Amino acid sequence: MTERIKALKAEKNAVILAHYYARGEVQDVADFVGDSLALAEAAAATDADIIVFAGVHFMGETAKVLSPGKKVLMPDTEAGCSLAASCDAADFALFRARYPDHVVVSYVNTTVGIKALTDICCTSSNALRVIESVPRDKGIIFAPDRNLGRYLKELSGRENMVIWDGACHVHDKFSAEKILALRSAHPGAKVVAHPECRAEVLAVADFVGSTSAILMFVGSNDAREFIVATEPGILHSMRRDNPGKAFIEALECNECEYMKLNTLEKIYDCLARETNEITLSEEERTAALGSIVKMLEI
Ligand code: SF4
Repeated sequence: MTERIKALKAEKNAVILAHYYARGEVQDVADFVGDSLALAEAAAATDADIIVFAGVHFMGETAKVLSPGKKVLMPDTEAGCSLAASCDAADFALFRARYPDHVVVSYVNTTVGIKALTDICCTSSNALRVIESVPRDKGIIFAPDRNLGRYLKELSGRENMVIWDGACHVHDKFSAEKILALRSAHPGAKVVAHPECRAEVLAVADFVGSTSAILMFVGSNDAREFIVATEPGILHSMRRDNPGKAFIEALECNECEYMKLNTLEKIYDCLARETNEITLSEEERTAALGSIVKMLEI
């Protein structure tokens, strides 16, 4: 299947982008594997005619916003995101109206409808930089992840930040209790956590960062064991790039079922038949574009 996908990709001048949370074999067939920020940048930079996005729906939408002339295909149209779904555009518009002078910073894990109501998008890689680009006398609305929002508020010392009450069902499930038990069993292990985890988890972590930052940390740190509090798809890259080190899931059976909907068969199928295309009206696209471009400039 991998060989067939590679041949088809060349024939159609297509590129496959995959998130670190995708299945290992999907990451292996991809031209580019990254976190949300790197994938958005790769989508904007590619000169391929077709982008197959082995991630979730909002990522495909972001690629389409940035590359309207390209065909963006999703292997499975059911690949959604609980975090994006936790922020409805009509409800968010009402929330935003309560703080008319605030600057709206939204995580890219949102629909185009939310991006249209946003001043600057961010990812977990650049969130602090984006927050710091807003003048200190300005209030900030942060959406949709309450855990990342709380973490950024603390880190930046921005008191005047209001946070939407959304969460990712995968990251919200990790617990400090379970991590502390694992740490007792593996005393030399370092705990790495994604900022979408709850505050109690971040408080016991040795390192907090985006998926790419976590990968860099485990690659450069001398520890031999790591307890990993983010979606376990990342373990594929960790194990491949760090053969002498051991990686322990902070919570077993905590996969993002949306990311795992992307299979080799579905990638082949959507590319062969050019189905599951992301379509946006020009109005939707241009309304969402400004906040993404601002993020990329920062
Ligand atoms: S891990 Fe969470 S934030 Fe990421 S795609 Fe899955 S549901 Fe969305």
